[in-house]
Amino acid sequence: MTEPRDTPFDPAAIEDRHGSGGVRRRPVTIVRAEGSRLFDAHGKRYVDCAAAHGWAALGHGHPTVTDAIRAQAGTLVMHTESAPNDTRARWFAALVNFLRADFPPNDQGVLSRIQPANSGAEAVEAALKFARYHTGRVEFVSFARGFHGRTFGALSATASGARRETFAPLVPGFVHVPFDDLAAVERAVGDRTAGVVVEIIQGEGGVHEGSTPFLQGLQRCCRERGALLIVDEIQTGFCRTGRRFASAWHEVAPDVIVLGKALGGGIPMGAAVWRDGLGTFESGFHGSTFAGAPLACAASLATMDVLQRERLADRAARLGTALLADLRALEAPIIRAVRGRGLMIGIELKQKVGPILAQLMDRGVWALPAGLNVLRLLPPLTIPEDDLAFALTAIRETLAQ
Ligand SMILES: *Cc1c(COP(=O)(O)O)cnc(C)c1O
Repeated sequence: MTEPRDTPFDPAAIEDRHGSGGVRRRPVTIVRAEGSRLFDAHGKRYVDCAAAHGWAALGHGHPTVTDAIRAQAGTLVMHTESAPNDTRARWFAALVNFLRADFPPNDQGVLSRIQPANSGAEAVEAALKFARYHTGRVEFVSFARGFHGRTFGALSATASGARRETFAPLVPGFVHVPFDDLAAVERAVGDRTAGVVVEIIQGEGGVHEGSTPFLQGLQRCCRERGALLIVDEIQTGFCRTGRRFASAWHEVAPDVIVLGKALGGGIPMGAAVWRDGLGTFESGFHGSTFAGAPLACAASLATMDVLQRERLADRAARLGTALLADLRALEAPIIRAVRGRGLMIGIELKQKVGPILAQLMDRGVWALPAGLNVLRLLPPLTIPEDDLAFALTAIRETLAQ
């Protein structure tokens, strides 16, 4: 269909006409971003408290990442894992090293076998396949309110009602139990369980953190019964919560860790990483055309480098502690609870969050929902303190009304 000549260019109208409808869209067109700020087509500025759903740990256009992408784009954008590549090899080594600081070796070795993927959901799929392959078992246990992505395997591990039922039948073998309920886990995990899939802090589900006894008990239960502990750190990983990985707060030692979002520095990327003592896939059992693309590896290498050099875990911890205290001090009757760790924060409201998000946008703050009534903040870990203060003021004024 061709446009009449004099129709002005209207991105929102075009996306409305041709989009699948699968994603709810906001009524502004984003054309540019810089650091912790997004700009719409009218030049209006938004402080990004969403970090684009958590991928932008370093904000938008960090020069180190941009330079790495530019350099790799001029050298080799893409070649498959079917042949080794220098950038991918460097990324493998750097990722193993980045993980090692939070996850010391145990009797199953170190987290050092990497299945690259192109998204978080795909990385979850890889972890599920590996767990079935490794254990020879078929069942999985995951948690109420958990979120692991939208492909069939990941959706099967995901618990929230409507999305699942619409697409049934899902992958068989998944059981969901209440989060933070060790007795329920003890009843559900048995000798047919291939793996338990868990988030340390449930993100989409409303920013709920598992307790240390629960997470430690889960680990023990998996170990005793021969199931793999699959920890989904797609949202919590890469310094967001004030440690490199949220597992470290609870001394949890995953058998398989699933990564995404901030991992790729803005280029689509995911990874499932398991302990070398668990072995490998047989050749031909898994893979994907773009998985481990040198361009994504270069962006990820630069991202991990900046996270370490700029000590962004410490910064997230410090800013997060202050922000949580400020939010807890708000005396707005609309607030039911404030939760979180580092720069992953949920404000549970006594009403739906949708209208609050719209008012925040009017005030120039881009935040996220988590479920129906939680306002979620995932700002870049590099956000200037001024921008964070601006966001806090907007939140205070909006919630006070
Ligand atoms: C975002 C997210 C996913 C899915 O990642 P995609 O890249 O969107 O497929 C899975 N698990 C958690 C915890 C997430 O936050």
